[in-house]
Amino acid sequence: MSTAEETMKRIDERVTLLNDARENTGARYVLYWMQMFKRATHNHALNFAARAANERGLPLIVYEGLKYYYPWASDRLHTFILEGVEEKREEFERRGVRYIFYLQRDTSDPKQTVARLAQDAALVVTDDFPCFIIPGHNRRLVAQVGVPVYAVDSNGIIPLSAFDKEEFAARTIRPKIKKLLPRYEGDTVRGVSLKRRAPRLKVDCPETKVSASNIAALVAECDIDHGVPPSPVYHGGTRAGRARLRHFVRNILPRYDESRNDPSTDGVSRLSAYLHFGFLSAHEIAAAVREACVPQAAKDAYLEELIVRRELSYNFTRFNPAYASLDALPKWARLTMREHDGDPRPAVLEPERIEGAETYDELWDATQRELLRTGEIHNYARMLWGKRVIEWRETYEESFRLLEHLNNKYALDGRNPNSYAGILWCFGKHDRAWGPEREVFGKLRFMSSQSMARKFEARAYVEWTKSFPPLAAYEGKVAARAAHTAEALTRV
Ligand SMILES: Cc1cc2nc3c(=O)[nH]c(=O)nc-3n(C[C@H](O)[C@H](O)[C@H](O)COP(=O)(O)OP(=O)(O)OC[C@H]3O[C@@H](n4cnc5c(N)ncnc54)[C@H](O)[C@@H]3O)c2cc1C
Repeated sequence: MSTAEETMKRIDERVTLLNDARENTGARYVLYWMQMFKRATHNHALNFAARAANERGLPLIVYEGLKYYYPWASDRLHTFILEGVEEKREEFERRGVRYIFYLQRDTSDPKQTVARLAQDAALVVTDDFPCFIIPGHNRRLVAQVGVPVYAVDSNGIIPLSAFDKEEFAARTIRPKIKKLLPRYEGDTVRGVSLKRRAPRLKVDCPETKVSASNIAALVAECDIDHGVPPSPVYHGGTRAGRARLRHFVRNILPRYDESRNDPSTDGVSRLSAYLHFGFLSAHEIAAAVREACVPQAAKDAYLEELIVRRELSYNFTRFNPAYASLDALPKWARLTMREHDGDPRPAVLEPERIEGAETYDELWDATQRELLRTGEIHNYARMLWGKRVIEWRETYEESFRLLEHLNNKYALDGRNPNSYAGILWCFGKHDRAWGPEREVFGKLRFMSSQSMARKFEARAYVEWTKSFPPLAAYEGKVAARAAHTAEALTRV
């Protein structure tokens, strides 16, 4: 156990005290550093911070920062986050909370804002998210501040601490979730009213005013990837997420168990980006689904994805430190890949060609085009998207790294536990060995564009992906060059 882990203390099933610092007795406020649960309701971390403020008779500050140098930062991700800022400011003001949003545009802007704010805080509360840059942020925070730091888990319906090890697959976590659910599913995560309202509390902290009219200008000033534009389809914020949730429950949920495998229709929730950025909580979505007057089979099919599959991914990244690598795979998958490592690949394609959706496989190109242009890939099509890349690079490692890069760069819901569990699923994670054994895939489950194209209106899906504006910086680079004559076009 490292020294940092030795000082951690579980306060309750969702709250961990990350250090053993003393509270600041002359404090002016309690500070909640909102990193991943970007919402003003259904938020265990916010509630914990509000209760801490009430117990001490202090006001509450919610601080949210957006820096320019996190991996894959782009216009797309920045815009989606910024679109959720103004509505939070309004909601927090109404509730008497001092909300500070700060956009750090480049190296010349002030840094260390949380550490500075923490100097006048009794304690700091932050989000316990088991993936990407957040665990590192929390470790650094503890090293920088001299007050108690509490990390609160508001990731899913069941607290991550309900499990004490990595679960092997959906079939092992499902019965445990079923047993635990009655304890948690009725939890409405009701908000806590503040006793000391101070929405305009004076603090020494840089602050950025955000409104619908200045988002594009703010994003243009940031030192980030301007080649990935905002999504023309998905807009950030809890309000936008709730609008999509209402549409989903009313129009899609009643037949979700049938429609979810058809990328040519509006048949899935498309809520994963709202879940990733914490604009919506799984509690709120699950409650809306449970209360809907729709067939039980449809509800069960959806809740299986939202709870069993999603919470399996979070359990995976919480307990497996190798989650961002092929080392996280089960033994059988690593063994079969070792045995097939040297198999000739049907075609080795340059990464730029794969990225630009310019392979020889029309259906696959459509999945990548959907990702490039909209910031998402349909749930069913995403499996094919991941599987095919295994055949197109010389090693499994290269395929994995390319998938990680493309997913995290373009997908609004990327950089999430589901990203790593989903990509590694293509390499056997949370799956089992399949036969017959094949070249390159070995015993990994195989998927082909031809068989998938027969299962839905593939032509309609392909055309739909073309209806969005192309990404000039990444598409069409290879088309200009000579066609790949050795490859037969795989058309749908
Ligand atoms: C190669 C690959 C990469 C993936 N990358 C991501 C990613 O970056 N981010 C991400 O959130 N999901 C990822 N997934 C899982 C899944 O594809 C998405 O969650 C789903 O497409 C989101 O669309 P939706 O909200 O319309 O899903 P719906 O079908 O409406 O499902 C409802 C919710 O259940 C959860 N869910 C659905 N399928 C899965 C699954 N297989 N595993 C875990 N949770 C699931 C999601 O939170 C989703 O929003 C990936 C899957 C694969 C095969």
